[in-house]
Parts: sequence; C-alpha cells; structure tokens
Amino acid sequence: MKSSDQIRILVTGGAGFLGSHLCERLLKEGHDVLCVDNFYTGTKRNIAHLLDQPYFELLRHDITFPLYVEVDEIYNLACPASPIHYQNNPVQTTKVNVHGSINMLGLAKRLKAKILQASTSEVYGDPSVHPQPENYWGNVNCIGPRSCYDEGKRCAETLFFDYHRQHRIRIKVARIFNTYGPNMHPDDGRVISNFILQALRNEPITIYGDGSQTRSFCYMDDMISGLIRLMNTPDDFTGPVNLGNPIELSILEVAKKIIAMTGSKSKISFKPLPADDPKQRQPLIDLAKEKLGWTPEVPLEKGLEKTISYFEDVLRKRN
Ligand code: NAD
Ligand code: UDP
Repeated sequence: MKSSDQIRILVTGGAGFLGSHLCERLLKEGHDVLCVDNFYTGTKRNIAHLLDQPYFELLRHDITFPLYVEVDEIYNLACPASPIHYQNNPVQTTKVNVHGSINMLGLAKRLKAKILQASTSEVYGDPSVHPQPENYWGNVNCIGPRSCYDEGKRCAETLFFDYHRQHRIRIKVARIFNTYGPNMHPDDGRVISNFILQALRNEPITIYGDGSQTRSFCYMDDMISGLIRLMNTPDDFTGPVNLGNPIELSILEVAKKIIAMTGSKSKISFKPLPADDPKQRQPLIDLAKEKLGWTPEVPLEKGLEKTISYFEDVLRKRN
C-alpha cells in the first residue's frame, strides 16, 4: 500500500557502492525508489536483494542521455568514483559530470523536483588549507590525470548553482570525503578495498609514496544518513556542505591497522606515488553539525570489521 508520505525518489548511480545503500535506506523509510544505472562500475549484485520489493524499480540508462521519468526528488550519484575507474575513460567521466548533470537538472526543472549532487572533497584538489572548510576554493590541476573527475565535479557544482540562481531549482550539494564499506567494487583500486583484499590474500600491501599522505575515512552508514538529512533540510539551505569523518590517518597507519585486524602475514611494499595525489585531506564538518545535526558515529574499527567480513565473503564466493 502506498502511504500518504511516500514520495518517488530517483537515485542515479543506484547500483554503485553508495547508491545501493541509499536505495535500500530510502526503501526502508517507505519511499518509492527508481534506481538508474548503466552498470559502468556498479553491479546488479548490489541491488539484487531489492528487486522483488514492490516499490523498487531498476532502469538501465546512461544519464549522459536525456531521461524522462516522473519523480519528486533526485539523488545524483552517477559517476565512477575511484581513480582507476574514472581515469579509465576520462572523457566519459567529464561527460557524466557535465552532460549528466545538465540532464538531471533539466529533469528537476521540468518536475520542480529537489535535486542533490554527490560532489567530492576532490573539488579542493591537493589542498593548501588544512583541514578543509567549505569556503576554501581549492588547489586543482586542470590538465592532469585526476582533472576529468576534479574539474568535472567542480563544473557540476557550477551547473547546480547556476540552475538554482537562474531557474530557482531546489538544490543540495554534498562534498563527500573518502567513504568505505560493503559493496565497494573489489577491483576499484581504492585504498581500503585494496589493502583489505591484499591482507586477506597475504599479498604485499601496496603503499603509494611513503605512506605519509593522509585521508579521513567515513563508514557508509554515516554517509547515507548525512545525504538523507541534507536532502531534508529547508529549501533555503543549498550547501555545499562537507560530509565525512574528521578523524585523519596516514596511509601507513591504515595499512598497519588492516594488517593487524586481519591477522595477515602481508608485508608492506612501497610503490611510486601517482601524479597529483593529494598530500592531506580532512573535512571540517561544523556546517553539517549545525545545519543537519549530523556527525559520524561509526568508529573506524567497527566499519573496517564489517568491510573486512564483506570482502571475506567476496573471496569465498570467487574461490
Ligand atoms: P561507484 O563507482 O560505486 O558508483 C557510481 C555508480 O554510477 C555506478 O553504479 C556506475 O555504474 C554508475 N554510473 C557511472 N556512470 C553512469 C552514467 N553515465 N549513467 C548512469 N550511471 C552511471 O562510486 P561510489 O563510491 O558509490 O560513488 C557515488 C558518488 O559519490 C559518485 O558521484 C562519487 O563521485 C561520489 N563520491 C564518492 C566518494 C567515496 O568515497 N565513495 C567520495 C566522494 C564522492
Ligand atoms: N593508495 C595506496 N595504495 C593503494 C591504493 C591507494 O597507497 O593500493 C593511496 C593513494 O595513493 C592515496 C590514498 O591511498 O594517497 C587514497 O587513495 P584512494 O584511491 O582510496 O582515494 P583518493 O586518492 O581519491 O582519496
């Protein structure tokens, strides 16, 4: 039965890591969810358990092409997120951020729907201000291997704010910092998935550079809560707002923690640092605390435990 407060929600990139958890949470909250994905980095496996739910619908579609559907809210998550994946077809990465955002904003305009953009800490580039507040404009190379993603996401933010100013579209912009958890693609090359799989296989843990670069890791449950809270803020709050866990670690510390937690025999192997790899990253989340009443709750050890057991399962099924 459709309840009176049930709304129709489109999640682009809904078969990906974050999108699949978002679809699941929105269904649990009683909404009618349309998941749109072209399965570039996402997989049906992530949402297979939702397919028989009456208020879940799956549409294979590439959002760089126009989409005509009827919904009340849009979460725009479609975009490969790991450096290996977004650099694999960099022109498509720019297209999904620019053409894809224009298509989704056009849809929001026609429907008078509210739309949330999954932006990124990468808009700050290799930051010279630390930790990063939302009013920092960033330090981004526009011609490097990460630029398709960084500049694509920056342009998407520009489009969101221009549609807001020009067409009065209700927008929400979340700047997501490194997030991890079950449903991450095992081959996406991101640090948490790489290190866990290497540790579980007792293979060398590949640290790029000397491991002194830092990141701040947020567990997916916290991130999904933050995104939903942001969507539900009053219309006069647009963001951009940082969402992430402010606890900062060096990559070497992450490697040691994962080796210890898995009881692995892996040794650390140092590899060259990729071009433009940010040296430090830590969100300031005062704005999220104030406007969303949000603060991450899942400690790193708890989140890693769940992620390790997810990847143990992935390996069991592969063998
Ligand atoms: P992901 O790669 O697992 O998910 C992205 C999804 O988008 C995939 O299912 C993919 O198939 C789909 N997709 C890609 N191009 C598409 C297109 N043209 N049309 C339709 N679908 C398309 O990545 P994720 O980690 O779940 O990230 C989700 C969003 O959050 C992305 O926009 C990403 O930039 C943003 N983000 C994530 C993180 C993080 O740490 N996970 C950090 C910052 C920002
Ligand atoms: N990294 C690493 N070994 C790996 C994968 C990543 O040392 O096997 C490093 C990477 O160089 C970066 C950090 O870990 O400094 C985070 O990388 P990730 O790709 O997860 O995210 P991003 O660089 O986009 O924050």
